[in-house]
Amino acid sequence: MDQVKIGAFIQATRKELSLTQRALAERLDISDKTVSKWETGNGLPEVGLMLPLCRILGISVNELLSGERLDEKKYFENAEKNIMTLMQEKQDAKRKIALSVLVIAVTLLSGITIVLLAGIAELSVWVRCILIAIALIDVGGGIAAACILDRVAGVYECPACGERFVPDMKSYVFGPHTFTKRWLKCPKCGEKRFCRKRFANTDESKDSKQTD
Ligand SMILES: [Zn+2]
Repeated sequence: MDQVKIGAFIQATRKELSLTQRALAERLDISDKTVSKWETGNGLPEVGLMLPLCRILGISVNELLSGERLDEKKYFENAEKNIMTLMQEKQDAKRKIALSVLVIAVTLLSGITIVLLAGIAELSVWVRCILIAIALIDVGGGIAAACILDRVAGVYECPACGERFVPDMKSYVFGPHTFTKRWLKCPKCGEKRFCRKRFANTDESKDSKQTD
């Protein structure tokens, strides 16, 4: 899905109707910053806003996602493509998360097995040391791999300015976190906050009136 094209299309149809960004935002009960973000290609409207937005602009959701007006033939072609793309984006992110959980489980299990083996089996001290070293490398490597996968699955969103970004490895690893939020410094406004994880690059609960 071409966000820049979609953004330009939103802007063009909005201007055709002589609506300002603010006027459009007010009718959707969102901030004009969000509209500006869509139009510059930095994010898609959240699914719940797509229908009302399209109604105001006099276009179909299919046309919105295609970034252009469609004739009948193209309409059906693009409808299928757009639906599949939307579903694919969510699925890819979820798959990466699942994989990272699996990687952690496997490495922890093998790590524990090696340590147990080192403790139980009749082995000389240095063999035990080597086994424990292997276990540490195994667990460390597994956690690192899981972090890399998790970091690239989706983006983090700054609650202050709405900027979405992929944090660098260092701040990702050292950022205190819950399952859905991580303490990160926003590259745009510089605020340090708990940033929420987003899977697809849509505007879900982006506006400050939605508190969570
Ligand atoms: Zn920010």
